Amino acid sequence: MSEKKWVYLFKEVDQAEDYAGSWDGVRTLLGGKGANLAQMSKIGVPVPPGFTITTEACIAYQDDHTFPEGMWDQTMEALKVVEEQTDKKFGDPSNPLLVSCRSGAKMSMPGMMDTVLNLGLNDETAEGMVKLTENERFVYDSYRRLIQMFGSVVLGISDEEFEEVLDSFKEEKGAEQDTDLDADDLKELTEKFKAVVKEAKGFDFPQDPIKQLELATKAVFDSWNARRAIDYRRRANIPDDLGTAVNIVTMVFGNMGWNSGTGVAFTRNPSTGEKILYGDYLMNAQGEDVVAGIRNTKPIREMKEELPEVYEQFQQITKNLEEHYYDMQDVEFTIENGKLWMLQTRTGKRTAQAAIKIAVDMSNEGLIDKETAVMRVEPEQVNQMLHPQFDSETIEAARNEGKLFATGVNASPGAAVGQVYFDADKAEEMAEDEGQDVIMVRPFTKPDDVHGMLASKGILTSEGGATSHAAVVARQFGVPCVVGASMMSIDADKRLMKSNSKTVKEGEWISLDGGTGEAFIGKLELTEPNLEEQEELMTLLTWADEIARLQVWANADYPKDAQRARIFGAKGIGLCRTEHMFFEEERLPYVQEMILNADEAQNSINNVERLEGFIESGKLNGQAMTDDTRKDIEGELAEAKKKLEGSEAANAYYNALDNLLPSQRSDFYGLFEAMDGYPVIIRLIDPPLHEFLPSVEDLLVEVTQMRTKGETKGLEEKEMMLEAVNKLHESNPMMGLRGIRLGIVYPDIMRMQVRAIFEAASDAAKKGIDVKPEIMIPLTGHINELKHVQPELEAIAKKVMEEKGVDFTYKFGTMIEIPRAALTAGEIAEVTEFFSFGTNDLTQMTFGYSRDDAERNFLITYVDEGILPQNPFQVLDRKGVGRLMDIAVSEGRKVRPDLEVGICGEHGGEPSSIEFCHLVGNNYVSCSPFRVPVARLAAAQAKIKND
Ligand code: ADP
Ligand code: MG
Ligand code: MG
Repeated sequence: MSEKKWVYLFKEVDQAEDYAGSWDGVRTLLGGKGANLAQMSKIGVPVPPGFTITTEACIAYQDDHTFPEGMWDQTMEALKVVEEQTDKKFGDPSNPLLVSCRSGAKMSMPGMMDTVLNLGLNDETAEGMVKLTENERFVYDSYRRLIQMFGSVVLGISDEEFEEVLDSFKEEKGAEQDTDLDADDLKELTEKFKAVVKEAKGFDFPQDPIKQLELATKAVFDSWNARRAIDYRRRANIPDDLGTAVNIVTMVFGNMGWNSGTGVAFTRNPSTGEKILYGDYLMNAQGEDVVAGIRNTKPIREMKEELPEVYEQFQQITKNLEEHYYDMQDVEFTIENGKLWMLQTRTGKRTAQAAIKIAVDMSNEGLIDKETAVMRVEPEQVNQMLHPQFDSETIEAARNEGKLFATGVNASPGAAVGQVYFDADKAEEMAEDEGQDVIMVRPFTKPDDVHGMLASKGILTSEGGATSHAAVVARQFGVPCVVGASMMSIDADKRLMKSNSKTVKEGEWISLDGGTGEAFIGKLELTEPNLEEQEELMTLLTWADEIARLQVWANADYPKDAQRARIFGAKGIGLCRTEHMFFEEERLPYVQEMILNADEAQNSINNVERLEGFIESGKLNGQAMTDDTRKDIEGELAEAKKKLEGSEAANAYYNALDNLLPSQRSDFYGLFEAMDGYPVIIRLIDPPLHEFLPSVEDLLVEVTQMRTKGETKGLEEKEMMLEAVNKLHESNPMMGLRGIRLGIVYPDIMRMQVRAIFEAASDAAKKGIDVKPEIMIPLTGHINELKHVQPELEAIAKKVMEEKGVDFTYKFGTMIEIPRAALTAGEIAEVTEFFSFGTNDLTQMTFGYSRDDAERNFLITYVDEGILPQNPFQVLDRKGVGRLMDIAVSEGRKVRPDLEVGICGEHGGEPSSIEFCHLVGNNYVSCSPFRVPVARLAAAQAKIKND
């Protein structure tokens, strides 16, 4: 049996792929960094020779903290190959090979071990390198860096111990920057750093290069289980058993002099998506100098002037990388004596705006197809594009009014208004405990600050460039961010900042524009962005519509919502809640009048109808009537009719309905007008009637107070109202008298609504508007309910069209929101032309949860404890609620193949639920107008993923 392979040279990437089975498998085995280094070498990008120790070795190591059998031997063999490739020897003073030791998990993980550069240097090899390079300064710059990195990263000495020594040394030498130190200085500093190690650990900095390599490798493996890494994995949902790989890479030197340098770049602008190289570099520097913000970096575009040939190479390489990976890349590079080396590439994190622009541009460039472009953007990123912004006039005015506080690099777009806090803990505390809108202000940020950044509406730093930690994290999480506002001075002790001769204290308001890179004093007004101006987003959504099978409709109660929905691309109204209109100030009194008189009025009406029934059928209690009896009944009927005519309650009831009709009609007219050519589903009255009345508690308090104070004016009315409300009291109103049940008990309300709808539709049709009304009856549980209600309403519809002399097509349908309706959908579909899943109620009734009580009392615990995977009111429960939907669609379509099926619960705007609706065979999803763009993308993604 051949020995397990723990180590892969970069040039062995094909072998790794054979073993791992797929590119994703290679990434699991070698980590993202290792896999891409190998891949870059393969496609001819200049990468210094090296190899990767696998994640499997890391996992095996965790058992007893020893390397698995054979691993170290393989590492030594691989090192030999690298020695041959580079014509150098590790630990050989006459021609030393130096390497870096780098961690690299499958997913990029900031919680992991930092990199150690320049391994292989010791007192002897350093002298050897001086002879070879004739560059003593460079050699001792590298050596002191090694001791510091090794000391802090591998030996766990606090970085500050080295920094303090460095700072006082620089002061002593009168050096401002590291680059002001000369060879002798750096040699001296190296000795001082060695002393720091000795002092802290009690032993000398290890001189044996192999020992250095071994300890560094172990430190990487150990860092997988460091607190920081574990915390990060929890938050980012990365499994614990992936392990990290270790990459050993031949050193190339950006610190060899002023013809060398190092930098990081994105192949396109990660903030706006613009197709230009974007990033920073530093000459005569090494490793993370750029990111650490020690010296002021230069933007990549300056490289074009400074090092035109390197820039040329760079452009060619990034082009190759994009053509290989078909995506925007985030790269690290080093220039050694004018030669460019790539040290890392990965898919670049980007803002929503950039994600959309890059996807559309790359598709237009022929790099990716439309499907890929549509898959490249997260539905929530579309949502971000709809977040409020400052319009240019607001910004202009603020500038003119002298509100400008500071300017910096526009690192992550978007507008933020909030109160200023100067550290991450405080920022998080104020945001979470006090519910404040917070802007976190720091000189720069570190991985330990991320919790505060995520809690903030915006981030402002005084140091760092476009690729600094703050910028990268802000872009990734869509937080507006301005970095490097260097005119600003922050006094963390006094808790204030100054700039532009203004002072802002902790807790005061500022406004940040991440798009222009400006910070203003005070609160600027936010405005909604204009979707039509966002060209790339519009293009992407048009592609999404071409791909999707599901249509996206909107829930809209008012014409203005319908207009917005149309602008956002809705192809219909899936839910208009008529009762929302009842709450308007001038209507509510009529609604209350209707409710308060409904019962008594209906009794009188029922009495007349009952007697009419006897006479029509000629039977009483199943027996044929005698002439005498008939006479009696006729008398009773005349009496009842008279009573009805004279009934105050009945008159008030009809009067209320008559008054509500025209206002409903005009609302509906507006909807038809806004949705010209598209279907409009109007739901008949749904909620329990008590919702339109004052609460018992309030009334009781008022009545009691009036009585004790002896007030009489209006008391009687209040008492009557209280009595009425008490009468309507139900112990479980959501399962009580509502929806279709109201249509049976008080039929005149729905009749009035249907008349209003058809009058409005007829009037609109006469004006040339293409109307497509669909009447939706809520809360059906049994086919007989529909059979009782619907024919009569359809008759009204026909009658109104006849009266108005117009004809158009319309539909009658029902909501499916009671499990019994889903289970008997075959029967229901015989009567009804469409189903709309009301998944809010359907979820409540399927789980037996009352939503408000559940969310308040136990649902959060259920989700935290993993009893439920998600809150089923947010993400549709596919197994239970979804099963009912599936049954309803398939049984309904068996009876009526062209049955129209939609969803109008809140799930209609949530991507995973939308995917399920696609799978079940819905015709459309309907969601709030603001979610329509998100849903359009999600609908296309559902199709691409599943068909
Ligand atoms: P991280 O995962 O934190 O980005 P890296 O392993 O990429 O850590 O290394 C950090 C820095 O060190 C990067 O700027 C990288 O370019 C530089 N670096 C790593 N290995 C080498 C090498 N062999 N030669 C020169 N620079 C290197
Ligand atoms: Mg790092
Ligand atoms: Mg890196």
